[in-house]
Amino acid sequence: MLAECASKLNNFSVSIESGLDKYSKATHPIRYGNYIKIRTEGYEYIFDLNGRAKIISGKRHNDWPREDWLKRTKGNDWIFYTAGMGYSNAFAYEGEYYTLCLNYNSNSVFDYKPFKSQYVLNALDSLQSFVSKLKNVIDEPACSENKVLLNKIINNNSVLPEPDIHSIIKSSISVLPPDTRHSDYDVIPVIIADGCVYNCSFCSVKSGEKINIRNEANIALQLNQLREFYGEDIINYNSVFLGNHDALVANESIMAFAIGESYKLIKNTVMLDNYLYLFGSIFSLLNADEEIFSMLDDSPFHTYINIGFESFDQTTLDLIGKPVKADDSKKAFKRMIEINRKYSNIEITGNFIIGSQLPTSHLTSMQDFINENIPDRSVKGCIYLSPLIGERDNDEIKRKFHTIKYSIRMPVYVYLIQRL
Ligand code: SF4
Repeated sequence: MLAECASKLNNFSVSIESGLDKYSKATHPIRYGNYIKIRTEGYEYIFDLNGRAKIISGKRHNDWPREDWLKRTKGNDWIFYTAGMGYSNAFAYEGEYYTLCLNYNSNSVFDYKPFKSQYVLNALDSLQSFVSKLKNVIDEPACSENKVLLNKIINNNSVLPEPDIHSIIKSSISVLPPDTRHSDYDVIPVIIADGCVYNCSFCSVKSGEKINIRNEANIALQLNQLREFYGEDIINYNSVFLGNHDALVANESIMAFAIGESYKLIKNTVMLDNYLYLFGSIFSLLNADEEIFSMLDDSPFHTYINIGFESFDQTTLDLIGKPVKADDSKKAFKRMIEINRKYSNIEITGNFIIGSQLPTSHLTSMQDFINENIPDRSVKGCIYLSPLIGERDNDEIKRKFHTIKYSIRMPVYVYLIQRL
């Protein structure tokens, strides 16, 4: 399909396209699923099937660096994907070829701030100005063939969707599991448990609430409203995030209900495979019945569970105010290895903190304990190192990151705190 509305708006083309149907890691931009594409003289806009802008990329002659792009989350944040750190550098740190830059404070080890750059601000402005101008040309004969599609774009980019995603799930999502990178962070969030067991002092993402397990009616209501919210674009989703900070604490029956009902939501996806992501704690991992893991292993999803260990060193745990014993942290890590070996459809990964001011015993205890318990290089699971919020010495963080990355027998990446 091609529309030419040259009189009031620069020439643009509009088409419905299909991208890749499998999440992949590559040194070039990939578009996934089905989408609406509009090309203007300066930019390419990707809209989801509801007509809402999802991706903006600039043309190279327009001061736009490389093949970088902006992507909007369903929580309405724009994220800048850049190859500016170099592919091999980005891959070493993040396991991905593109580095994500957020438009809010987080814990990135990179100092690049694209949202302060004029070319990014221009790109965001260009979208609004394109949508406004579209309203003026929509009734021109040249647009008649694409009127339905273009009207969707006008209607869905002039106001924010109501209710928003956080009102539906009755929660904010202050952080996504790092493993959601395997689905390019395109996950449908379903909250089954609020709060967390430990409420650690150092943590900047906690809600501060005590554990509250949602009931079936609450989960069913979320899923019904999420179906409406995602609308036609639901077919582009194959991944679910069972929230929030410790979904593993929920009992098997609630978890099985949420998984079964979530699967109904995405079973007609155009994307291959299905992924389920959740966080767990040392407490929930040590206390979860074997039936939970058997159920997850038999589910239609490949499940990633991300556990917050933070440290194996008691001095460090006390310093950051995590109320657990180092021995329990180690016990839970051994359980992680056991589950990763036993269940082919489950992969557990571990978070540890990293900070320039932490005792040296923090990293040495990690190195010793992990290598002692993983005699050969692990094939499943990985370690994410999360720089403490407010960390100022990124050079020291990078030095420590490299030390640990090349001294333990598991893949190690940094964890960027990213919300939805
Ligand atoms: S680190 Fe994990 S367990 Fe501790 S407060 Fe934050 S979310 Fe809760």
